[in-house]
Amino acid sequence: MGAENVRFRSYDHCLDTLVRMGADRLDVENLLGHERGHYEKAVELGFKPIYGIWLVPDFPPLILAGYIDFEGAVPQGQDMIDILMAPTVSGEDDIKLVKRIENGYQC
Ligand SMILES: [Zn+2]
Repeated sequence: MGAENVRFRSYDHCLDTLVRMGADRLDVENLLGHERGHYEKAVELGFKPIYGIWLVPDFPPLILAGYIDFEGAVPQGQDMIDILMAPTVSGEDDIKLVKRIENGYQC
């Protein structure tokens, strides 16, 4: 079974849907707690973030990763850095991306 990408406009919708699919509520809360940091900072800066989840749709689903995507404008430069650094505990990929932006990479 291949991985699928699902997207949600709100935290509650994402959490409820994954729990209904059989995912462990605490696991999902841990994952989304981090993504929520990115999400809320993005909203604060005027962007329209979406919760994205990569999962293998089994019962329970195998959740591979969470991320934040954007409807409309994608944050650039310092805005993106602020969004990436917003969660209390930074992810490895978040730090890598911040370094790339600081080195002049345009996302
Ligand atoms: Zn992150």
